[in-house]
Amino acid sequence: MSFTPPSCPNPACAASNPSATFDFVHIGSYARKCDGRVVQRYRCSTCDRGFSDQTFRLDYRLRRPELDQRIYEAFVSKVSHRQTARILHTKRRTVERRIARWGEHGRLLHALLLAASKARHTGSFSLDEAETFETDRRLCPLTVPVLIERETRFVLHVESAPLPARKVGTPALRQRKLEREKANDRRRNGSRAAVKACFEALKAWAIESGALEIVTDKKRTYPAVLREVFGKRELRHAVTSSKAVRDTRNPLFAINHTLAMLRDGVSRLVRRTWAHAKTRARLLHHLWIYVAWRNYVRGVSNIRKHETPAMALGVDPERWTLAAWMRWRAPWALLLRNQ
Ligand SMILES: [Zn+2]
Repeated sequence: MSFTPPSCPNPACAASNPSATFDFVHIGSYARKCDGRVVQRYRCSTCDRGFSDQTFRLDYRLRRPELDQRIYEAFVSKVSHRQTARILHTKRRTVERRIARWGEHGRLLHALLLAASKARHTGSFSLDEAETFETDRRLCPLTVPVLIERETRFVLHVESAPLPARKVGTPALRQRKLEREKANDRRRNGSRAAVKACFEALKAWAIESGALEIVTDKKRTYPAVLREVFGKRELRHAVTSSKAVRDTRNPLFAINHTLAMLRDGVSRLVRRTWAHAKTRARLLHHLWIYVAWRNYVRGVSNIRKHETPAMALGVDPERWTLAAWMRWRAPWALLLRNQ
């Protein structure tokens, strides 16, 4: 497989924008210690910095590349990090260090694919918030707002934000709460800002005129947030009580089902688990790993298994294999997709 560097990977270099006239020289090659793959090295003629084929790859500077696909599959299959390390006979650190890199990659590549398909779409969208926590269920609850397109189950955006501590009953818990508040700032409710970020992602991507349909439950803050984001634009905001019967005819079925799938795929979201989130930042990385796989790799359903939600919604014409999704780093992944 011949590879041509599309641009200089140094972001500060004038040649960092992909161009057919990118000027570089070959400066030899080496075989990687971990898998023997031969890596070509280059030097940029503009900034004189060295780089290699490997610089463009998602497994850049990671050892054990042979485990990558299986670790990714474990991340979307409710397997805890400790158990993943155990069954793959590796260290927990090997598993954990991939979370931030792959989460960030998923978020970025999703944004690139959305930008490439911008302003052509309409549909019926739905938002709801899953509740979970970091470290302590009662003292550190979190909200996870998720925005989807209902028909295709395409996840447009996901966020996580702190919620205030719950009411504490026992003196011991009250004591822990006070200690926590002394050590950190008091937990404020970040739900509104996180929900707003979801609707802003929709506004940036959807067609610019015409009515958008948005289905939510009856939470009181949603209409105001929608007005803040969309201004006077025509919206059909349909609300359903979250207490209504949760069958397939319920307008919230698609989002309820998506949240249930998240809880069934992401180990950190499982209820009553030892694998719960310890930090919000890592939870968000883990969510983006799942969302990327859900949108671009997995089929819409068990029956429509060759069609991804991204294909169904017209965001991306082709299905990504997991290997392809994990091959190139996000800034170059679209450009190098077929290499
Ligand atoms: Zn350069």
